[in-house]
Amino acid sequence: MPTAVGGEEKRMYSKFFKATKIYDNVTMIDEGMVQCYLVEGTERALLIDTLCGIGNIKAFVSELTNLPVTVVATHGHVDHVPGAFTYGEVYMNPDDIALMYRPMHASPEGRLNYFNQSEHLTEDGKPFKATMDDVAKDNGLRIYPVYDGDIFDLGGGILIEVIQVPGHTYGTIVLLDRKNRVVFSGDACNVNTLLNLEGSTTIEEYKESLLHFKTFEDAFDGMWGGHGARCVPKTTIDDGIMICDEILAGKDDAIEMQTIGGPGYLAKERGEIFMPKYGGTCDIVYSKEMIHKRPHPVITDHPNTYK
Ligand SMILES: [Zn+2]
Repeated sequence: MPTAVGGEEKRMYSKFFKATKIYDNVTMIDEGMVQCYLVEGTERALLIDTLCGIGNIKAFVSELTNLPVTVVATHGHVDHVPGAFTYGEVYMNPDDIALMYRPMHASPEGRLNYFNQSEHLTEDGKPFKATMDDVAKDNGLRIYPVYDGDIFDLGGGILIEVIQVPGHTYGTIVLLDRKNRVVFSGDACNVNTLLNLEGSTTIEEYKESLLHFKTFEDAFDGMWGGHGARCVPKTTIDDGIMICDEILAGKDDAIEMQTIGGPGYLAKERGEIFMPKYGGTCDIVYSKEMIHKRPHPVITDHPNTYK
């Protein structure tokens, strides 16, 4: 496993963000329930995900690096892309653009509600709620498309490679860092992989995505996701494939449950702190209408007023 897994001392803290260096050239930025990552080369830095857009992540990142920053989102959800509004531009897969402009993900109210659902503490340990004054304004976002195989060249031999892993959303990508032998995986594959959401793929499609992801596994050892602030082993992908097979065969635990995205079925019984009882590091929540392939639903109603 990479040497720095587990992180070093916290080196910066603001009301909204904490920064922890996890490799020589990588800093994890933590919003409490969600994490994003700043990877530095010699010429540029890459900010992988941007959190909710509560507080000013651009200002925070500018204190972590003097390099120009390129921003990429692993997918279009409320807790990953809206901080990009502070930059005015983002790289993301086009399949998530309509989804990210849905009110829950892009509207100031949706983002504030999401942020305030979890507890946040000031530096001296006092709980606080964000207000509308803390919400980054959407003054227009320039979106550059990224696809499987694209590479961010950060200089000094730091190359970060895009792998498309549709599942949690159709536009989900993960970012492979061959130097540190890790993947920054967003919400693509974890102990609570939600596939029951508007914008999720079917289980059949997700299994194909994981098989594609697995073809890169010789290049990395672990995955840093968007929720959890820890590196999980790459066997998480094998666990996911196994669970997809069980769901497709009707042999999973299929435990009925409610999630943030509505009702669903949990594939494998859960123990303490979300860890599945079977001992692996992947679990899947799915909808029984979204197991077998079906036409890709198109999101068309995403009304916006730009000011
Ligand atoms: Zn997500």
